[in-house]
This record gives sequence, C-alpha cells and structure tokens, in this order.
Amino acid sequence: MTDLQDLIVEAGKCVNCGFCESVCPTLPAAGFLSTKGARGRVDIAKFFYRNDSIDPSASFYSCVDCYACLTVCPAGVNAGRVSEIGRMILAKQGKAPEIAKMIVELTMRYRNPLGVREKCAQWARGIEFDASETLLYTGNMYQLMAYLRKFGKLRKFFGQYEVQLASFIRKHPSSVSIFRDLYDKAMMDRMNGYLINIVKLLKQNGVKFGYLGSEEPYPGTFIYDLGFEDEFRDYARYVSKLFQSKGVKRIITVDPHTYELLKYIYPRYTEFNFEVVYYIDLIGTHKISGKYAIHTPCHFSRYFDFSEYVSRIFDVNVEENPTRCCGGPDELLFPEISENISEKRFNELSKTGLPIVTACPICYANLAKDDSVTDISSILLSDGYSVSAGSVH
Ligand code: SF4
Ligand code: SF4
Repeated sequence: MTDLQDLIVEAGKCVNCGFCESVCPTLPAAGFLSTKGARGRVDIAKFFYRNDSIDPSASFYSCVDCYACLTVCPAGVNAGRVSEIGRMILAKQGKAPEIAKMIVELTMRYRNPLGVREKCAQWARGIEFDASETLLYTGNMYQLMAYLRKFGKLRKFFGQYEVQLASFIRKHPSSVSIFRDLYDKAMMDRMNGYLINIVKLLKQNGVKFGYLGSEEPYPGTFIYDLGFEDEFRDYARYVSKLFQSKGVKRIITVDPHTYELLKYIYPRYTEFNFEVVYYIDLIGTHKISGKYAIHTPCHFSRYFDFSEYVSRIFDVNVEENPTRCCGGPDELLFPEISENISEKRFNELSKTGLPIVTACPICYANLAKDDSVTDISSILLSDGYSVSAGSVH
C-alpha cells in the first residue's frame, strides 16, 4: 500500500536544483507553468504533506509518467513516482477529477472503460485460435484508441460540459452505451489490422494460443494510473481469477502498458502466477533492411533495453532520446498538454524524413499525424510476409 510516508521519502530527497525541468515534457507543453513541471510537482508534494489545504490535483494528474526526470536528477528523485503517489493519496481522499472517477467506475462495472468489450473483440472475427494454455491478451488497448481519437474530436463541441457529462454517467452508468459506436473508423481499421498482424506473426512462428474474445477484460491501466489503488487491487484479483478459471499459464501481451502492468504491478497487488511475455520475444525476427525513425515507448524503457529489440530487428534507427514521451497519458484529462507534446515529438521524428515506427497503441494514436507513422507489427510483416494493416482475414 502506498501512503504519505512514501511521498515524504521521495520528495524529501530533492535538493531543488531544477535539472528535471529541462527534460520534463509537460512543463513547456503547459506554457512553463511551474506546477505542471517536474520540480513544481516535487515542491507541491513537500507542501502537500505539510498542508492539506493545497489542491495539487492538476499538478499530479498532468504528469505523463515518462520518468525522464529520474534520468537527470542528482538526488535520485523520481517526480513521476511522486506524482503517482500523489494521485493515489488524492484518489483515496475522494479528490480525483470527476472524469477519472467516471472511467474507474465504468471499468470496475464493465471490465472496460467504455463498456465496449464486444466491439473490441470484433477484430478477431474469422480467425481460428487454439485451445491452449497460452493466451493472446490484447487488453483492448489497441481497439480503445479508436474511441479516444473520436473523443478528441468531439471534445471541441462538448469539452466545456465534460465534467457535467461525467457526473451524469456516474449516476447513470448504463448511459455509457451512447459511446458504443462513437469511434474513429479509420483508426479502428488500422488498430484491428495491427492486431491481425501480430496474430499472423505468432502463427508464422508456430506459436499456439487462445483468445478470450468479448470475455477479454481491459487490464485496468487507467485504474492504476489514475491512482485508484484499492479498486485496482480488486480489479487485478478479478483478472487473475478469470485467467485461472480459463486454465491460462502463459500470457502474450502486445503493448508496453499491459506488459508492465501484468509483469511488474499485478504481482504487487494479487497472486498472479502466470508467465508474461511480449510477443516480439516469441517471433524469430531477422534483420530488416532500411532506415526508420523509432519512437521508444516510455513504459518499455523503464524495465528493459528496448534498443536491444531495435538493434535485433533493424539495420539502422535514429532513436534520439528513449525517454521522450508521446503525450498519450495526458489525453484524457489534459488534452492540450497531450497535443503539444505529441506535436513536438512528431515534428522531431518527421524531420528525419524517415518512416516513423511505434511499438505502443497509445504512442501510435498520438503520433499518427500522417501516413508516415506505422506500428512495428506492420514492419515485421512487410519484410517478406507483406500483409498490410486492415486487409487480412
Ligand atoms: S532534478 Fe531532482 S533534486 Fe533537482 S529539482 Fe528536480 S527533483 Fe529536485
Ligand atoms: S515523469 Fe515525466 S512528466 Fe512526470 S514529472 Fe517526470 S519528467 Fe515530468
């Protein structure tokens, strides 16, 4: 369990040098408002535990959890972790933003943030899966990006009413069904295609696996990221029991957020005796010729050297800064900050003139500002297998 003591220990190490501000993506994206930068968050945490009349919500909830600050801090402070703990304390106090509460409550009720599990399973229609102890687990992550993309557009019209809308949905959770068909079709086609690419890659490498279809639950990423620790524990137990009841022994994940959650965070909250693997570890990739601008997902660079995958798969890449964020985590609560960060990152990658490759559905959805951006599964397939996203069955 996380508590105030964790916050005191982490924030208390800060010597106030300001180095973290030079790498924190939210600071410039928020117009250099200090409370939305790394040092500002740590400063607020120091006062927060001394003075509970301070409202640190916007500061902690606008952190994108990229951990870039940790890479430069001479005192070893992780302002991202400070923000995570801060969100957990706020959520326990009932002070989380209304939209966060809505998303968590819907996820607890429907095992999907928008109650669209059936829609999220449609990509697999017509695909034959095996009765296997190995499970392909999409966690609905690719599919949900099509909804987020649509919400981003609709926000222009209802943005000023979103808190009221969230309150209404919290009171009437079944009303969330109005969102069922509110997704970006082009994005859904691409995301479905990427999942199909992954299935093909696994099958071509002789991997046998099952899939839960519309029974597949969302992994609970938002619940954890938004700070709802008690709810997350309950949710993790539910998912673990579901996998047990299906006889699962090994779980193939397809995105960094689900991989991180299942492999490193679930075991802290529940019994979780499953082998968790990343799909690229199961496919015998060979070197792909050609240059690409590779965008490394923050959540992969936390736990292992993603550049090892890159150097195993690609001849040359132009990855410049593995800790640079796509802005995705702010999409829900701070869309302007998210857009500013993603615009900057896209421009950096675009300047290379090379095709841009992502390995995370959230990164893809935020960076896909033109057709130069693609998911790594397409590149893996295109070299010799040649299947384009969205065109197979
Ligand atoms: S770099 Fe570390 S010590 Fe310096 S201000 Fe940031 S958190 Fe504090
Ligand atoms: S984790 Fe990233 S966004 Fe959060 S304070 Fe650190 S550098 Fe800034």
